Amino acid sequence: MTCSLCQRVQLAQAGQYPYLIYEFKHSYLMLGEHQFYPGYCVMVLKDHHKEMTDIPQPMQVEFFQELMLASKAIEQVMGPKKMNMCSLGNVVPHVHWHFFPRFENDPQFFDPPWLRIKEFEGAKITPEEGLQTIEKIRNALK
Ligand SMILES: [Zn+2]
Repeated sequence: MTCSLCQRVQLAQAGQYPYLIYEFKHSYLMLGEHQFYPGYCVMVLKDHHKEMTDIPQPMQVEFFQELMLASKAIEQVMGPKKMNMCSLGNVVPHVHWHFFPRFENDPQFFDPPWLRIKEFEGAKITPEEGLQTIEKIRNALK
């Protein structure tokens, strides 16, 4: 198996992905392994599909509802000025969504978060460092 997100889903299913926040019916919400933008999360569809439009019904609609619940929980916990959500998949073509909370004090507030991708590596966190945020978002989803 070569898809890195299928591998991450397998880890989550085995209880071995330490950044896991919450398991939905069709997806996993995970805290980002870097927190350049505090509260950055990733939501990964359990099944391997390249495009949102490839997902069969009713999974497609239910996954969208899961996305909304996840975004709402992150908003409640992080209190951003604006939530940025995006699904690209050019690097790993397995449906996943990025949640970037954006804050008032962000000097590049009007720019897409990806413009600072080179700085993400320097903001890596350990699962222990992420634990408080993981638990807060998890609790907001209960
Ligand atoms: Zn995959």
